[in-house]
Amino acid sequence: MTTGTGTGTGPGNALPVATGAAVRRAALRLIRLERRAFLTILAVNALAAAAALAAPWIVGRIVDEVRDGAGTGTVDRLALAIVGFALAQLLLTRWARYTGHRFGERSIARVREEYAERALAAPASVVERAGTGDLTARGTTDVATVGTGLRDALPDVLVNTVQSLFLVAAVFAVDPLLGTVGLIGLIGVWLVTRWYLRRAESAYHEEGTANSDLAEELAATATGSRTVEALGLQQRRIDAAETVVRHCLRTRLRTLHLRSVLYTGIDISYLLPVAAVVLLGSALIDRGTVTLGAVVAAALYLRQLAQPLDAVLMRVEQLQSAKVAFARVEGLGLLPRTDTGPPAPEPDGERIEIRDAHFAYDGGGDVVRGVELTVRPGEQLALVGPSGAGKTTLGRLLAGLDTPHTGSVTVGGVPVAALDPARLRRHIALVTQEHHIFLGTVRDNLRIAAPDADDTALRAALAAVGADWLTELPAGLDTGIGVDGHVLDGAQSQQLALARVVLADPHTLVLDEATALLDPRTARHTERALAAVLAGRTVIAVAHRLQTAHDADRVAVMEDGRLTELGTHDELVAAGGAYAALWHSWHGGESG
Ligand code: ADP
Repeated sequence: MTTGTGTGTGPGNALPVATGAAVRRAALRLIRLERRAFLTILAVNALAAAAALAAPWIVGRIVDEVRDGAGTGTVDRLALAIVGFALAQLLLTRWARYTGHRFGERSIARVREEYAERALAAPASVVERAGTGDLTARGTTDVATVGTGLRDALPDVLVNTVQSLFLVAAVFAVDPLLGTVGLIGLIGVWLVTRWYLRRAESAYHEEGTANSDLAEELAATATGSRTVEALGLQQRRIDAAETVVRHCLRTRLRTLHLRSVLYTGIDISYLLPVAAVVLLGSALIDRGTVTLGAVVAAALYLRQLAQPLDAVLMRVEQLQSAKVAFARVEGLGLLPRTDTGPPAPEPDGERIEIRDAHFAYDGGGDVVRGVELTVRPGEQLALVGPSGAGKTTLGRLLAGLDTPHTGSVTVGGVPVAALDPARLRRHIALVTQEHHIFLGTVRDNLRIAAPDADDTALRAALAAVGADWLTELPAGLDTGIGVDGHVLDGAQSQQLALARVVLADPHTLVLDEATALLDPRTARHTERALAAVLAGRTVIAVAHRLQTAHDADRVAVMEDGRLTELGTHDELVAAGGAYAALWHSWHGGESG
C-alpha cells in the first residue's frame, strides 16, 4: 500500500452524471420546444377532468330527487346526462393522451439525437477509458427509460394530477367540512409517498449503476473471449460476473421492497377518507346540515380520487427512474468536446512534427517523455524498442487519438488532435487489427471513409487491396454485412478496413505491426493488401520485426518513453548502441 494521490482508475474514469438542477433545466427545455403540444395537453385535460366531476354530482342529485318523490322520467334524464358526460370525458382524455404521446415521441427523438451527437463529439480517449459498456447502457436502457418517462409517464401524470385536483375541489364545493375531513384522510398517501421518494432516488441510482456494471462486465468477457479461453480465465470471469449479477439483484430487490411498501400503504390510505366522510356525513344528515345526496356525491368523489392518484403514483416511480436515467444521459453533456473552439486552420503541407511531447495515462506517470521527432513526407520510419517503451502510445499521439499534456504533435503546423475526424482522416490514419464492420451494405461500410465516393471509386479501392471476393457476393456492393448480414472472414474484414484507408487517402499512416498482422491465417493475404496501401505514403510503423526496421528509411529507438536513437539502419548499426545490439542478437540468431 503506497501513499499516492489515489486517483488511479475507477470513479475518475466513469462518465459524468448530471445534477438534479441540470436535469430539470433539460426537461424544461424539452417542454419549451413543444410548448403548444404541452399547453394543449393541459387544457384538454382540464376539460376532461371537469366532465369527470359530473357523474358523482348527478348521482347525488338522483338520490335527493328520488327521496323527494321524483318520477322515473327525471331519473332517466339525469342518467342520460351521466352517459353523455362519461363519453365526453373519454374522448377528451383520449385526445389529451394522444397529444401527450406525440409530445413524448418528439421529445425522445431529441434526447436520442443529442445523445448520439454528444457521444460522437466526446474525445475517443475519454470514451475508451470510461468503457463502452457504460456508454452503451446510457444509449440503450437509459434512453429507453427516459423515453417511457416522456411518452407515457409525464402525460399521464399531468392528466391525472389535473383530475385529482378537480375532484378534491369538487368535494369542497359539495361541503367544505366534508372536504376538510377527506383531505385529512389523504395525509397517509402523502406520508407514504414521502417515505418512498426519500429512498427511491439513491436506490434507482444504484440500480442504474449496477446495470451498467453488468453490461460492462459481460461486454468485457465477450470481447475478450479468446483471451479468456487462451489463458483459462473462465472460472475467474464467471466469478466476477456472479459478483456483479448478485449486486445487480440486491439493488433490484431494494427498489422492489420500496415499491411494495408504497403500494400497500397507499391502498390503505384510500379507504380512510371515504370511511371518515361517510361517518361524519351521517352525523351531519341527522343534524340536517347536508343532504344525503351531498354525502353520496362527496364519498363518490373521494372514492373516484383513488384512480387518478394511483395512476400518478404508478407513474411517479417511472418518472423517478426516468429522472435518474436522464441524469446519466445528460451527463454526457459534461464531457469535453473535440469540436469546441474555432475550427483548426488547414494544415500547410504534410510534415509531421513532434515537439517536446509528454503524455501520461489517467493517474499514471509520463509514458512519453520529451519526444522530439520530425517525420519527412514520404519516408518510412520504424519505431523500435522494448515492450512498454511507449511506441504504441506515441502512435496514438501521432494519430490524434490522444493529446500530449505538454508539447505538441502537428501536421503541417496544425495540432493533429485539433482536426475533426473527417479532416484528420485525409491526413493521418491508424492501421491496426481493430477494424469495425458496421451493420449495412458493403457500400455503406466503405463510404464511412469517403462519403462522396462513387461505386467506381469503391470498386477500385477494393481491387487495390486485392478484395476479389466482391464479385462473389450475392448483391455486390449492395450486399448487407455485419451481424445479421453476409459474414466476412478475418482477411476480408481486414481488406475492407484497408480499402477504407485507400478511399480516405491520407498521406500518412501509423501502422501498429504487432496488431495489424496479428492473425497468422490472414497474414499472407493482409500483407499483400497492406503493401498496396502503404505504397506512396509516409509510414510510421511500430515495428515488431527487425526486418521492417532494416527496410525502413530511418529507425527511431524508444526506451522508457524517450527517443534514444534516430538514424538509418546502417548509421545505427555503425553507432553500436541499443539498436546495434538488438540487430546483432537477432541477426546472429537468424544466421546461426
Ligand atoms: P509499447 O507499445 O512500446 O509496448 P505502450 O505505449 O503500449 O508501449 O505502453 C507504454 C506504457 O504505458 C506502458 O507502461 C503501459 O503499461 C502504459 N499503458 C499503455 N496503455 C495504457 C492505458 N490504456 N492505460 C494506462 N497505461 C497504459
